Amino acid sequence: MDLAGKNVVITGGGRGMGRKFAVDMKNAGANPFVVDVIQENLDALKAETGIDGKILDVTKESEVEAFFNSYSADHGAADILINNAGITADALFIRKKGDDITKFPMSNWEKVINVNLTGVFLCAREAAYHMVKSDKKGVIVNISSISRAGNLGQTNYSATKSAVDSMTVTWGKELSRYGIRVGAIAPGYINTEMVAKIRQDVLDKIIQQIPAGRLGEMEEISKAVKFIVENDFFTGRVIEVDGGMRI
Ligand code: NDP
Repeated sequence: MDLAGKNVVITGGGRGMGRKFAVDMKNAGANPFVVDVIQENLDALKAETGIDGKILDVTKESEVEAFFNSYSADHGAADILINNAGITADALFIRKKGDDITKFPMSNWEKVINVNLTGVFLCAREAAYHMVKSDKKGVIVNISSISRAGNLGQTNYSATKSAVDSMTVTWGKELSRYGIRVGAIAPGYINTEMVAKIRQDVLDKIIQQIPAGRLGEMEEISKAVKFIVENDFFTGRVIEVDGGMRI
């Protein structure tokens, strides 16, 4: 697919990697539109880059349906969805400290399942519905993570990211009959605010395990998004961009 003039919807694009994808899509001649949950970030994006955005909580079915209905009415169906919104809420599964034993909090479980799994499902479903309805041969790019393989403290996050991978394969198989391609990227540790939240001593240990010897840059993930969109023979697969790190 040639990016020029294409409609791109990016979830969680108000900051972090999603924002970088939006800016790079604009620079490549596409028409990015961002959805996110904090108005200030959308306002800053608009002021600094001219990119439009709207508040959308990707976990709410009726709101996601309404957004894609109105977006398609205003712009035509999205040609490209970058399913990027994702959160972490880490905890140990069981933690014993002295006589005290704590369990993985249900609230952490539900929060992450809602955004990273249900949100990805809903946005892909609505984007694909409008692509099929208007006979557009679109592309869906899901953002997974190397934590998909299972990572300490990330029962919830790892479970959602491996589900993102299996949905990518399933949708790749199901939607190819309509000319829609679906790919995913499993980034390693990238230089973002999400990673900046990690304690420095823990981060130093993580970097020691990355064969490339450093964090990835957002641009390196953005290039992988572009590759998936532009390569018409790519579908139903996950690209790992992780500096060689294995979890
Ligand atoms: P950020 O937290 O910087 O950005 C995620 C954005 O999604 C934020 O703007 C966030 O809003 C928004 N968001 C959260 N919940 C919702 C919701 N319910 N509906 C809509 N938007 C929402 O994350 P990153 O840029 O670091 O990560 C982007 C993606 O990449 C995620 O899927 C993440 O799992 C994945 N990833 C990140 C890695 C990294 O190293 N950073 C590594 C591997 C994968 P708010 O501002 O309120 O937080």
